[in-house]
Amino acid sequence: MLKLTLSEKSESFRQSFREWLSKNPPPRAPTETSLGEFERVGRAWQRKLAEGRWIGSHWPAEYGGRGLSLVEEAVIQEELVRAAAPQVLGLFGLTMVGPVLISHGTKDQQERFLARILLGEDIWCQGFSEPSAGSDLAAVRCRATRVDGGLRLKGQKIWTSFAHIADWCFVLCRTADMPSKHEGLTYLLVDMRSSGITTRPLRQASGDREFNEVFFDDVLVPDHNVVGKEGDGWRIAISTLMFERVVLTFARQLQSEVALNHMVREYGGVAKGAQKVELARSVTSACATRAMSYEHLLAYSHGASPGPEGSLDKLLWSESFQRLCKLGMFLEGAGAALGEERGKAAHAVHRYLYSRGRTIAAGTSEIQRSIIAERILGLPRLRYSKA
Ligand SMILES: Cc1cc2nc3c(=O)[nH]c(=O)nc-3n(C[C@H](O)[C@H](O)[C@H](O)COP(=O)(O)OP(=O)(O)OC[C@H]3O[C@@H](n4cnc5c(N)ncnc54)[C@H](O)[C@@H]3O)c2cc1C
Repeated sequence: MLKLTLSEKSESFRQSFREWLSKNPPPRAPTETSLGEFERVGRAWQRKLAEGRWIGSHWPAEYGGRGLSLVEEAVIQEELVRAAAPQVLGLFGLTMVGPVLISHGTKDQQERFLARILLGEDIWCQGFSEPSAGSDLAAVRCRATRVDGGLRLKGQKIWTSFAHIADWCFVLCRTADMPSKHEGLTYLLVDMRSSGITTRPLRQASGDREFNEVFFDDVLVPDHNVVGKEGDGWRIAISTLMFERVVLTFARQLQSEVALNHMVREYGGVAKGAQKVELARSVTSACATRAMSYEHLLAYSHGASPGPEGSLDKLLWSESFQRLCKLGMFLEGAGAALGEERGKAAHAVHRYLYSRGRTIAAGTSEIQRSIIAERILGLPRLRYSKA
């Protein structure tokens, strides 16, 4: 694992978390082939961590955090990886809607939602993508119309991860037709138990049913569940994506190190030739990506807001994770090729198929490259014209 030199304060914080972990050992990480087990273990583990106040440590104390920097949060994540702990379940709440509500929510929204997000009592899903609005998010067609006391939401979302177990969904929808498609959008908090919501699971290549189609049929969303002003949804959606690409990616990056550490232990001594080189490349690439992410997290700890640099983290992590998982399958050899249903080979194949979606979710690699080119490198915007 990469060793960075942190301040004495951060190292002593690490020590106190290690001590807590030794008294509260994490449950065994569930096999990735069972989503039900993933949910049960992830929910319970999040509650335990929250009770020890190890969840949302970088959130301000008034919102249930400890008011520490993102570096301390990263230390917690690193120690969780070291202990091979399972993923907490409420990641979308912790890394996306939670920070968004802290920045843009009303006092009432903060009081109603933030503590429950920390404890994992409310699991959130992200209702952004639609059949004709993925990379082009501003093209959303889901529409909400004004009625007494709130808005009526109608339309469809797709690829909504964990919608089938979520209590709440943050939704980007259209509330007015404007000359620019980025205007007239509104950000809503939708109770998944409202009448008029239908959730249909979609099966992924890995066999999991992590994401869903979600249909809203005249769902009433009260005014107090609008975030920011009506029509100001694009600004809040972008803020969500920035948190997603930096903070959520950091958490995922560390999770993928569980896989990497496992592979180094398992195959480090037996991999030969090109495979050994590829394994070494995966280790160096993980170290480099983590060092860069740390640099970004440090900047946010000094007051900067997440910006386009999150695309670098997201791109490098997701592409190297995919290469790593592919290597894992090759290292498993015949068992993986013959499609064994249990054991290490099955696990490697499942992880590889799961990794395929990571370069699509949270914005595809092509979109991240465009953001890096235009907004970080300052290259001119490519315009496509019909020949
Ligand atoms: C595992 C997984 C989980 C997901 N979870 C969620 C979720 O919880 N909530 C949610 O809202 N969404 C979720 N998504 C959806 C995800 O955000 C979209 O799939 C993604 O934004 C791409 O949109 P699309 O599928 O419509 O593809 P499209 O936008 O149709 O893109 C198709 C292809 O064209 C390329 N392309 C498109 N536009 C451009 C361009 N301007 N320049 C260059 N290339 C371009 C893309 O890179 C891609 O290769 C998830 C996706 C996956 C795979």
